[in-house]
Amino acid sequence: MDVRPLFLVEQRKKTFKNWPFDEKKKCNVNNMAEAGFYSVATGADDADAAKCFLCGKELDGWEASDDPWLEHKSHAAKCAFVQIGKNEDDLLAPEFLSIVKQYMMNETSRVEEVAIGQIDDKCKLVKRKCLRAK
Ligand SMILES: [Zn+2]
Repeated sequence: MDVRPLFLVEQRKKTFKNWPFDEKKKCNVNNMAEAGFYSVATGADDADAAKCFLCGKELDGWEASDDPWLEHKSHAAKCAFVQIGKNEDDLLAPEFLSIVKQYMMNETSRVEEVAIGQIDDKCKLVKRKCLRAK
């Protein structure tokens, strides 16, 4: 399973394929990505579904005049990225490293949960086969 480096603003920008607002609007791809969001759209119906790479908060129903940072703050005030509250270029090295560390820890537990689920399924299967073999 791949771990995408979504802690990088350039990587988050790449995820926005059919974002409904252009560069002239406050709620543009650049500002979304700067504020920590990446696109989780699966089609036209949820073209504006976006998620924070760090806290996992998912938001949709964006308006052209929305400020992504303010929306992030008002919906996920405890997010570590919101608490630092800086665009990537303004982050100090220790701030950036703490964000990367947190992201990697989150990703590790996500991958771990998936793996545990798969092992559980396998165990149940083996157990069933053993019971049948008795
Ligand atoms: Zn967040």
